Amino acid sequence: MASSAQLAFSPIDLHMHSLASDGTLTPTALVSRAHGAGVRVMALTDHDNTGGLAEAERAATALEMTLIRGVEISSVWHDQGIHIVGLFIDPDDQVLQAGLARVMAFRDWRAEEISRLLAGQGIADAAAGARNMAGSPMVGRTHFARWLVRQGHCGDPAEAFARYLGRGCPAYVPSDWIPMPEAVAWIRHAGGVAVLAHPGRYKLSGTQLRALLTEFRAEGGAGLEVSSGSQAAGDREHLGRLAKELEMAGSLGSDFHGPDMGHAAIGRLLPLPDGVLPIWQRAGVTFP
Ligand code: AMP
Ligand code: MN
Ligand code: MN
Ligand code: MN
Repeated sequence: MASSAQLAFSPIDLHMHSLASDGTLTPTALVSRAHGAGVRVMALTDHDNTGGLAEAERAATALEMTLIRGVEISSVWHDQGIHIVGLFIDPDDQVLQAGLARVMAFRDWRAEEISRLLAGQGIADAAAGARNMAGSPMVGRTHFARWLVRQGHCGDPAEAFARYLGRGCPAYVPSDWIPMPEAVAWIRHAGGVAVLAHPGRYKLSGTQLRALLTEFRAEGGAGLEVSSGSQAAGDREHLGRLAKELEMAGSLGSDFHGPDMGHAAIGRLLPLPDGVLPIWQRAGVTFP
């Protein structure tokens, strides 16, 4: 990461996680931490559920912060797992909630599969352990990773992904996530805007990323994260050019998961490059 990125700060941070998914803070503690960091507009974007939004909104109101209702949907495009952030969603929308219920059911099934595969590696009762690590009904690989560390099977979560949980590893379950067009449709039905999360993190060539974004836009996708918490130097400039060329909006978000979760800190973001339309303007929102 460039040294300038270490000094970066944005009062707007539109991607973070709470205990409602694989973050380590309650929604209240997350909002409070964001406020303390100087963030004034934040989106809570838990994986595949909106269970933390009501609490986050109460905490934000008390601190006179703006809380944007979000979600990060686990999706797939041509066998490539991708994440789609929905911002400005109505969490009461029935189409969105019915869709998220399907993803959560897949997560439950997958947890048992991961557990079965870990048992084959001599590690018993992992699903129960992972659920124990979770602060909500959402169980994900992060919870397995933390449990594997706690049990002494791995030194840190990154090792758990490298040895057991990552693609191609013994406990990897090929993920039957929601096709990209459906995830976009749910978000739009709920009145939200769909954003491709952390585009630099996928193993896609430049040509493939352009193809993904072109299809995403054709399905109604509105933007992409141009500035994100842990991206390589130069990614922001490259993604900003892509956003302008494809006439898509730009978003920015740390992808914060917790104080001890390494990489991303709340609000530690470089601004959107000049000329990139901010996603909130695309959504028709202005901040004071
Ligand atoms: P899941 O959605 O359950 O498949 O889990 C994906 C989540 O695992 C991501 O949102 C990250 O929070 C986390 N994750 C993915 N890869 C790694 C890694 N190599 N090290 C630590 N955490 C990871
Ligand atoms: Mn996560
Ligand atoms: Mn993600
Ligand atoms: Mn995320």
